[in-house]
Amino acid sequence: MTASAEKFTHQTLLEVTPLTPSLFTLRTTRDPGFRFQAGQFARLGVTKADGSVVWRAYSMVSSPHDEFLEFFSIVVPDGEFTSELSRLCEGDTLLVDRQAFGYLTLDRFVDGRDLWLLSTGTGVAPFLSILQDFEVWEKFERIILVYSAREVQELAYQTLIAGLAERDYLAEHAHKLLYLPTVTREHHPGALTGRITQLIENGELEQAAGLAISPEHSRVMICGNPQMIDDTRALLKGRDMRLSLSRKPGQVAVENYW
Ligand code: FAD
Repeated sequence: MTASAEKFTHQTLLEVTPLTPSLFTLRTTRDPGFRFQAGQFARLGVTKADGSVVWRAYSMVSSPHDEFLEFFSIVVPDGEFTSELSRLCEGDTLLVDRQAFGYLTLDRFVDGRDLWLLSTGTGVAPFLSILQDFEVWEKFERIILVYSAREVQELAYQTLIAGLAERDYLAEHAHKLLYLPTVTREHHPGALTGRITQLIENGELEQAAGLAISPEHSRVMICGNPQMIDDTRALLKGRDMRLSLSRKPGQVAVENYW
């Protein structure tokens, strides 16, 4: 099969940056033909020593208008894919499926005033792409990014998040963003303490945001740990908020990472 007929392209790693022993970010070249919507994911492939290729889904952190692709990865102990991925260095090759996938995109919502982006761990990735794209800033009046990790040192992209307000194209909208980091295993000034579900149940999240979560005004995207997603969906269901489907628009969109 010729390279152009293959379902994937070969991209080169431009940067690999460790954050903690189990978290790192990576940046690759981008095929000019690779198109995606903010919030979608790519299928990445690594070649193992025996020549076989392992594929996994990875949300783009970078925006659709960046010339590169950026990803944020966990290292799963003995994980088939991440053991290989975490060994790669600058200049190495990563396979990227030609097509992007996923429905954690803004077109899931036909209306809404406040957008809540609820993430655990690497689940913040699609929200960083969404926040670097212009559409969200025009579409919503308030955007609340909630990013949960065990410890503060595991919160990635703090400089990127803090710098969004400085971007020229966002200047007049920057006041719309409220960033609420939360940590579960320590107390830290500047971060809420506890799981996202606890913070919804005890009212702390809405208090910190100064906004209520309601079916009328709120649209909620949830990404990361499947248990957190299930539990949060159950809490939102109790408030009459449901998954948004193409045939039946709702208030909630989710992406499970495993
Ligand atoms: P696997 O055998 O795939 O996973 C083993 C176990 O590790 C899982 O059962 C789970 O308990 C745990 N695990 C897997 N992924 C994670 C994670 N991200 N955080 C915490 N625990 C995890 N992973 C990323 O790191 N970054 C992403 O942007 C990302 N985007 C994804 C998008 C989609 C739509 C899906 C379905 C998954 C995504 N994942 C992401 C998970 C990723 O596809 C792999 O599961 C991950 O790379 C681990 O692969 P593995 O073969 O090493 O371990």
